[in-house]
Amino acid sequence: MYRPYTGRFPFTSPHSPLNAVVFLLLLFSGACRTKKTWPVKFSEEELRKRLTPMQYHITQQRGTESAFTGEFTHHNEEGTYTCVVCGAQLFSSNSKFDSGSGWPSFFELLKEESVTLSDDFSYGMHRVETTCSQCGGHLGHLFDDGPRPTGKRYCINSASLGFQPKDAASESTTGDEAASSSVSNEKTDL
Ligand SMILES: [Zn+2]
Repeated sequence: MYRPYTGRFPFTSPHSPLNAVVFLLLLFSGACRTKKTWPVKFSEEELRKRLTPMQYHITQQRGTESAFTGEFTHHNEEGTYTCVVCGAQLFSSNSKFDSGSGWPSFFELLKEESVTLSDDFSYGMHRVETTCSQCGGHLGHLFDDGPRPTGKRYCINSASLGFQPKDAASESTTGDEAASSSVSNEKTDL
């Protein structure tokens, strides 16, 4: 049972507990995402009650809804898109565009700091994950093939979003308030 020790592989040395720690950190860094502390925290129990199963799965378990199934994919009202978990304002309807992807797409954030970006290597590809900076809820991914002026495409699950019609946030001069009462986040069917 002779195994040559080349000294190049850091985890074979029994005299280096630090290497073991580094190894464990690397091993669990993906699973530790949820341990990161976010400014706003909700209990699992509350979220399971308050969110639909689809909203819970996508925001808390980093799921993805099927293309063209989300309620906001072809949603064109004026207003503000919010995080469905914590209500943080994320996107203006002015930055929404039809990307043809089947998911709501935006070329710009309302506030740069409202979304946290991180590398996502799942499914054998490298993507940039977008997460709500307030509560850590998963939103979707960011791509660099968006339209001008930013060139960015925030590809966001409808189930991660809430919507505040413009009329609810500010006084309207156009009188299109009728649609605001029909907005609902309760869809669970696919
Ligand atoms: Zn949030």
